[in-house]
Amino acid sequence: MARRKKIYEGKAKILYEGPEPGTIVQYFKDDATAFNAEKRQVIEGKGVLNNRLSEFFMTGLNAIGVPTHFIKRLNMREQLVRAVEIIPLEIVVRNVAAGSLAKRLGMEEGADLPRPIVEYYYKDDKLGDPMVTEEHIAAFGWASQADMDDIVALALRVNDYLSGLMYGVGIKLVDFKIEVGRVYDGDFQRLIVADEISPDSCRLWDIETGKKLDKDVFRRDLGNLADAYTEVAQRLGVMPKQAAQMGKPRLIN
Ligand code: C5P
Repeated sequence: MARRKKIYEGKAKILYEGPEPGTIVQYFKDDATAFNAEKRQVIEGKGVLNNRLSEFFMTGLNAIGVPTHFIKRLNMREQLVRAVEIIPLEIVVRNVAAGSLAKRLGMEEGADLPRPIVEYYYKDDKLGDPMVTEEHIAAFGWASQADMDDIVALALRVNDYLSGLMYGVGIKLVDFKIEVGRVYDGDFQRLIVADEISPDSCRLWDIETGKKLDKDVFRRDLGNLADAYTEVAQRLGVMPKQAAQMGKPRLIN
């Protein structure tokens, strides 16, 4: 098979040129990184789990009319997605105080927020993804006001969808990050959800026990990350029962 052209390698994924113009193959690696890659480890099976979980969330979003880049899963570690012009922002939605919000504002982790809070971070690893406001976004031309209206609407719809889905399997969606990209359909352009949605980019707590089922398990050395992600996948019915009983996340294809 002809070697595919690598377009970009990030911390957790590699992007290759897709088979058709306007498509990309997104490969999920097993690498886990935190604190802007100061902490890193290879966690066997993580890429397979995130590929399946992101497929599951994006397929559901597409089905309820929240547009995403996801086209189809290709194999255990790869999915075909639409090429987008990525907006250089990480969009975070929070339902519960945790992580950097709790630290910044001196809040106790776990306090319910009065309403979902949407925050923006400028995507730049060298700068450590600094938080920015709509003023910065408008002034530096990263997105227009109309784009921002669409971004907030997308982010809140994803929040409602994911919160409900998680609540149904006894998990609290504490917060999450999405990325958004621009696509052109003929003369029209629109914004769609891109990148991935997985336990790498969400905080997920068991509603009963508060047990963490997301990347904080790795960030804070709380146990085996693949086990936590496997539990999320099992609860959502993403992982076939047989594979779950074998306890091998890499067998779920
Ligand atoms: O660290 P912080 O509390 O700001 O993270 C908020 C949410 O955004 C968490 O769910 C975290 O996993 C996610 N996030 C991410 N990628 C980043 C920063 C945060 O997925 N670069």
